[in-house]
Amino acid sequence: MSLSRRFSFFQSLTFRLTLGLVILSALSSLVIVSVIYFILRTNMSQRVDQMLAAEAREISVLYETRGIKALRADLNREVMPGEASEVFSRLETADGGEVAVSDPNSWRGLVPDPELLHHLPGGRIVFETLHPSGHHRRIVRLGYLKMPDGSVVQVGKRLGDEEVILDEYREFSSWVIAIVLVLAFLGGWLMIRRALAGVEEVTLAADRIRQGDFSRRVPLHGRGDEIDRLAESFNTMVERVQTLMTELKEVTGDIAHDLKSPITRMRGLAESILLSSKPAPEPSELAEEVMEESDRMLGIINTILEIAKTEAGVAPVSKAEVDMAEVAGAAGDLFQSVADDKGVQLEVSIPREPMIIQGNTAQLQRVVANLLDNAIKYSSPGGRVLLALSLTPSDIMISIADTGSGIRPEDIPRIFERFYRGDPSRSQPGSGLGLALARALVKAHGGEIGVESAPGKGSTFTVRLPRADSPA
Ligand code: ADP
Repeated sequence: MSLSRRFSFFQSLTFRLTLGLVILSALSSLVIVSVIYFILRTNMSQRVDQMLAAEAREISVLYETRGIKALRADLNREVMPGEASEVFSRLETADGGEVAVSDPNSWRGLVPDPELLHHLPGGRIVFETLHPSGHHRRIVRLGYLKMPDGSVVQVGKRLGDEEVILDEYREFSSWVIAIVLVLAFLGGWLMIRRALAGVEEVTLAADRIRQGDFSRRVPLHGRGDEIDRLAESFNTMVERVQTLMTELKEVTGDIAHDLKSPITRMRGLAESILLSSKPAPEPSELAEEVMEESDRMLGIINTILEIAKTEAGVAPVSKAEVDMAEVAGAAGDLFQSVADDKGVQLEVSIPREPMIIQGNTAQLQRVVANLLDNAIKYSSPGGRVLLALSLTPSDIMISIADTGSGIRPEDIPRIFERFYRGDPSRSQPGSGLGLALARALVKAHGGEIGVESAPGKGSTFTVRLPRADSPA
């Protein structure tokens, strides 16, 4: 069973993110709905209180200016017979006796808090909300205003419409919250599932790779989003791992292949000493031969490893500004005696200006040395080798031309491969690794290497390296 299948639905990120979104939506819609409810309620009760205050002040003015009789007449007039008024009022004396009342029916069963009435401040209206328990269950808001003579103006209003509106609002809010939750769940689920589908693809690919299928890649959707970037990085990583694995296989195969010959030679040597009737060679001669073969083997192993590390780009290499004119000049000096010994004329043409590249001196020296070594090695006595440097606006060009044996057209595509040796070259010493190493090192410096050659006429190897001081 694949890893992804083992996760339960409730553990999945899709579920948890959706749940988070639903909770967040629920909380935010609850907060919004509650704030609106609070504002609505405050607003309504303020309006009721203002209405009651206005009524109470009107009554107090009437009582004070025109007396109790006028007030009684006025309050009686306010109610149409058989109809409950919206605001009802009365005037009570300090000891609780009713002096004037506008709508006795509405006052029935309403008992204001005696404590509150007793401690009323003068000139300021105090409000009270009563929840009557009698047949008339509607909530009543009452306002009390104490008069200078100690009597109290009382005004009241049944909160009917306000409660209905708030009730309706509460019901409406519950529906809104329910719809928001359903939408948040469905929308969130779809969006999050779509967004995370890419992650699932990466997981599946990783799963397949775990089982050994390195050819697997995550498809890119070209959206350039985070998931695409994850898939891209993942694919690059798999590509790199695949290259390293292939390199490792090749290097292992190469080492096994090329170490066979020196070991076979050493074994042959020992066998011939054991089996031959001739007297055994001197131990010092033997040791010399074994050392030579061992050095050859070590050289091959080191070069193979260096090529592999350079191609894989895993070896940390210190880079600095290198003057290629100096590197080439030193290599020319070094190989002058080798060329002289072979009767080959070595010419060096380096312009006077500095030719700076960002690189590793030792590695660049090896590139030039390998190419010069080949040029001299594959030239006959009397031949010519020319090492020339030139500049282009962006690059430094190194050319190593010889008048030697040349390379057959069918060999040209293969000479940069590891261990490839042209047939006519077998008579010369060599392992077939020099050009492979040169190419790996040039590539690691961001350059290119190429060759033009014709059998019998000679070869010209050209290396292009990007200038560090490019004016471009
Ligand atoms: P090696 O020289 O050890 O054989 P290289 O990798 O340096 O290995 O070169 C690979 C092959 O390319 C050589 O075997 C030879 O056939 C061919 N080659 C390289 N340089 C030259 C040259 N300057 N002239 C002719 N052939 C060459």
